Amino acid sequence: MDVRETKGLILFNRDFREDDKLVKIFTESSGKRMFFVKHASKSPLNPVIQPLMMADFILRINDNGLSYIIDYKKVRRYDKITADLFRLSYASYILALADAAIEDNVADANLFAFLQKVLDLMEEGLDYEILTNIFEVQILERFGVSLNFHNCCFCHRTGLPFDFSHRFSGVLCPEHYDKDDYRSHVDPNVLYLIDRFQQVAIDDLKTISLKPEMKAKIRQFLDSIYEDYVGIHLKSKKFIDSLASWGDIMKSEKD
Ligand SMILES: [Zn+2]
Repeated sequence: MDVRETKGLILFNRDFREDDKLVKIFTESSGKRMFFVKHASKSPLNPVIQPLMMADFILRINDNGLSYIIDYKKVRRYDKITADLFRLSYASYILALADAAIEDNVADANLFAFLQKVLDLMEEGLDYEILTNIFEVQILERFGVSLNFHNCCFCHRTGLPFDFSHRFSGVLCPEHYDKDDYRSHVDPNVLYLIDRFQQVAIDDLKTISLKPEMKAKIRQFLDSIYEDYVGIHLKSKKFIDSLASWGDIMKSEKD
C-alpha cells in the first residue's frame, strides 16, 4: 500500500453491499481507480464522493485490491454545471468519454488537465456543445484513432473546401474527391471547424460562436466518426440525444 496526495475528479459512485460505495476517481498522478468507502451515507467522505467533485485527495493506493480515500482538502465544486440539466448532461458525457478512452490505473496527467480545463470553461458559461465537440475531437487519439482533417490525403494542400473520406481516414480536396466514390459529402465548413478543434489551444476558442444549424451538422458528423472509428455507445450520450428533441422548447422558455 502506498499513500499519495493527488488532485482527483470523481467520475461516478455506485452502491456496493449494504451501505458501502465504490467510487471511481480520475486522479492526476495515478490515473483512474476504484476506491472503497465503507458506510458511505454516514461517512465524512460522503459529500466529496459525488460525480464532478474535485479535490486534493490523500489516497491509499493498492495495486492489487481495493484502494481507499484517507482524507481530502481544497474541494472544488462545479456548481453552475450541476445546477443546469443541459450543462450537467454534457459534462457527464465528457466524464464517461474520459473513462472509456483510457485504461484504469495508468496515469494520464495531460488528459486530466484537459478534462479539468474543459469543465472549468463549461463552469464559466462557455458554450457546452462546442466544448464537448472539442473534447470529442481531441480525445480521439486516446481511442487510438488518428484522422487527418488538416490537409488533403493525396496532395497535402491545406485551406480548401474539403470532404471527408472514411476510406482514407482523412480529408480530400476538390481535385481528389474522385478518389473515394463513397466520400461523406459533409459541409466543408464542418471540416474546417473540426480541424480547428483538433489543432487549437482551448483558450483560443473562447470567442467562437456557431449557429444552431452548424452545430447540428458538426454533431451529426462527429456521431458518424464515433460510430465508425470508436464504436462505443454511452448512456450519457443517448441522454444528450434525447435532450435534443425537446431541448429547444426548454431553452426558449428560459430566455
Ligand atoms: Zn488533393
